[in-house]
Amino acid sequence: MHAIEAESLEDTELDVPGDVPEAEVPEGAAPCTVSGPTALVADRVFAFLVTFLPPLAVGLALVLLGLGWYRLSAIELGLMLGMHLLCVIGVELGFHRLFSHRSYEAHRAAKVVLAVLGSMAFEGPVIWWAATHRKHHRYSDKQGDPHSPHLHPAGAWHVFRGFVHAHIGWIWVPASMRPPGWARYVTDLYRDSDLLKIQLSYFAWLAAGFVIPGAIGGALHGSWKGAFLGMLYGGPVRVFMMNHLTYWCINSVTHSRLGSRPYATSDRSSNVPLLAIPTLGQSWHNNHHAFPSASTMSHAWWQIDIGDWILRALECANLVSNRRRPAGHRMAKKKTYLPRSKMNHESDG
Ligand SMILES: [Zn+2]
Ligand SMILES: [Zn+2]
Repeated sequence: MHAIEAESLEDTELDVPGDVPEAEVPEGAAPCTVSGPTALVADRVFAFLVTFLPPLAVGLALVLLGLGWYRLSAIELGLMLGMHLLCVIGVELGFHRLFSHRSYEAHRAAKVVLAVLGSMAFEGPVIWWAATHRKHHRYSDKQGDPHSPHLHPAGAWHVFRGFVHAHIGWIWVPASMRPPGWARYVTDLYRDSDLLKIQLSYFAWLAAGFVIPGAIGGALHGSWKGAFLGMLYGGPVRVFMMNHLTYWCINSVTHSRLGSRPYATSDRSSNVPLLAIPTLGQSWHNNHHAFPSASTMSHAWWQIDIGDWILRALECANLVSNRRRPAGHRMAKKKTYLPRSKMNHESDG
């Protein structure tokens, strides 16, 4: 094994370029670098599609099923779960652990495949995603965090508002979607020509995430109806499952008052075991905020981190190397089992 020890964010902040002028960002790196009214319209269209298309697709699938237009088969379920797995691998292992945190090194082929898979997830283009996430770690649950649930006034109604903002509302807020100077966070990624090409061809990969399951469904059923069902379940219904029900809960649920906080981080991140499997380990989110540059999210034998298992398998295939892991003595130093109420009180102060 080639795991190396990772520092915690508080010991060594993310290596985020801070003084590089935005002019260094290549021209035409749409959709992230368009500006002015065009950018606002583009962001609103994207937010509208991400918010409403998946639930509408789920409604359509249920109505057609209820009308007896089709019978749900293993093909649709397989395409939905298979595409979910591939897209979470792309986002969690690629966008998150590799590009945002550089928690391991990847062979060029693995890097490209992970970036493409993540681009099919309907969570935005790769470099924008990493910029948003690095900003989240820099300002976690403080002013500047793009999607914290804790920046609203006190009171039950505002707790609900904060939860909705963290889950999906933030993509409707220009200051969260496209904050001034955001490109400074990812100048290293803009210099990677592979990532830049994948970023610039984002909409093609987005379409591929719908067309590929449609083609497979059509081939297996031998009909256009099968192609439509494959596209429906492998495309927008899968997006609903990943973005609305599982992976986006990282922003809302694992930064809410639910879950446990074994590490005394300066934010409100928590570990939520229920989401560990569908998020490939990301819901051990307090572990992650304590040691953001570690490639593993599991700090105990019973904390399932399928993402780490996949990285170990890729390492055996020589596609991944230099996986970072939390240093044992730092884990012990940071660990605390204070009652959650006391920790929240301390954070409030
Ligand atoms: Zn977080
Ligand atoms: Zn992270």
